[in-house]
Amino acid sequence: MKTVAVIGGGAAGYFAAINAAEGDPAAKVHLYEASRRTLTKVSVSGGGRCNVTHHCFDPRELVRFYPRGGKELRGAFHQWQPQDTVDWFQSRGVQLKTEADGRMFPTTDDSQTIVDCLTQAAKNAGVTLHLKTGVISITNRPEPNTHNPTPNFHLTLSTGKTATATHVVIATGGGQKNAGHALASSLGHSITDLAPSLFTFHIDHPLLKDLQGLSLPQVRVSYPTAKLAQSGPVVFTHWGLSGPGVLKLSAWGARVFSQLDYQCELLVNWTGDSKPDAIRQALELAKATHARKALVSLNPFDFPRRFWERLLEYVSISPDTQWAQLPKKAINQLVETISATRLSTNGKSMNKEEFVTCGGVSLKEIDFKTMQSRLVPNIYFVGEVLDIDGVTGGFNFQAAWTTAHLAAESIARA
Ligand SMILES: Cc1cc2nc3c(=O)[nH]c(=O)nc-3n(C[C@H](O)[C@H](O)[C@H](O)COP(=O)(O)OP(=O)(O)OC[C@H]3O[C@@H](n4cnc5c(N)ncnc54)[C@H](O)[C@@H]3O)c2cc1C
Repeated sequence: MKTVAVIGGGAAGYFAAINAAEGDPAAKVHLYEASRRTLTKVSVSGGGRCNVTHHCFDPRELVRFYPRGGKELRGAFHQWQPQDTVDWFQSRGVQLKTEADGRMFPTTDDSQTIVDCLTQAAKNAGVTLHLKTGVISITNRPEPNTHNPTPNFHLTLSTGKTATATHVVIATGGGQKNAGHALASSLGHSITDLAPSLFTFHIDHPLLKDLQGLSLPQVRVSYPTAKLAQSGPVVFTHWGLSGPGVLKLSAWGARVFSQLDYQCELLVNWTGDSKPDAIRQALELAKATHARKALVSLNPFDFPRRFWERLLEYVSISPDTQWAQLPKKAINQLVETISATRLSTNGKSMNKEEFVTCGGVSLKEIDFKTMQSRLVPNIYFVGEVLDIDGVTGGFNFQAAWTTAHLAAESIARA
């Protein structure tokens, strides 16, 4: 008898349990969840709207959104990619819509739609749910009955009981102190260095003061020492800088910034990718063609007015100065500030909309065709417990759906 134990009732655990049960209706599928509630992160995800996946249907393109795990996921995305996710939810009556930046949400704009869909699908497929039942240990003891060739795993549960399974899916999610990492280590797996990913930087700088809520559409933020650079929208916060451009940088540099204890010097080009020469030309053109206008009334870079005023103030020029009166020294200062402001960071805050853990079960020890451990047959790892994480935009859930589906298919076939 095939008995599947799925450990962790999050997105990855649910998807694995549903697909394993649907793929092999004769199998007994048990879903163990340590806490009182399942799918907690799905509920709060995407600001309560659940950014289910991303409108990117080319695996080669898709893998570029994963600072860790992209290479390994490429083949996996050929098996299960965002289009499959969209179809899977649609076939269960959940329509997804795409926003301008490619993020996909349920048309209800309510994560409860996704929670309801997954819980109903699990019930329909006959998955047995065990709430408040953490899995504390897994041992792989051979069955005394030597005629039974399938391995038998013994699970110790937080309830004091034990359980057995022929296949175990570890889907315990991320975090610095994850029970799944301990289970993986006890089975001989290595855990790569852990660090938070998708965070915003604390920065105390006169250019940023009191501009919270303001956003710039295309800013390049870099940390040249580690050759890290990302472009995208940036949002001013009470404590520093946030927005997709900053979050992407935090993801690609998660380990570097952790080692620096989030104290470093970032370089910011507020125009995105305009070179200093182009910025100088734009300023000189404005000076030549709008000599009589006040600096504040003509902003060659389409910056929000408050930010343009702040830039002028920062280089000690009154906003009422006419363009004709703009001294060369101020032009030089503006060019330097706009193209390369140096910002010292002084800590970080997690992004409320989405954050993940960089690091986890080493991908070298996993067969990405099946998500099965290369060290212990019939043990599978899915979702954030692995050393996989994406930038914001629905990529983290997509990694959970894909890895869970591959594991479930493999178990159903077994
Ligand atoms: C606030 C927030 C918003 C987010 N929004 C988005 C978004 O919109 N789009 C996106 O793509 N990603 C988003 N993410 C990231 C995404 O939620 C995760 O990558 C995803 O939930 C990982 O799924 P998982 O099933 O691997 O882990 P989890 O969702 O963390 O689930 C793991 C489960 O395992 C349980 N567990 C742990 N140990 C044990 C044990 N020993 N025994 C039994 N159970 C155990 C936990 O209680 C938990 O329920 C967000 C993350 C956060 C924190």
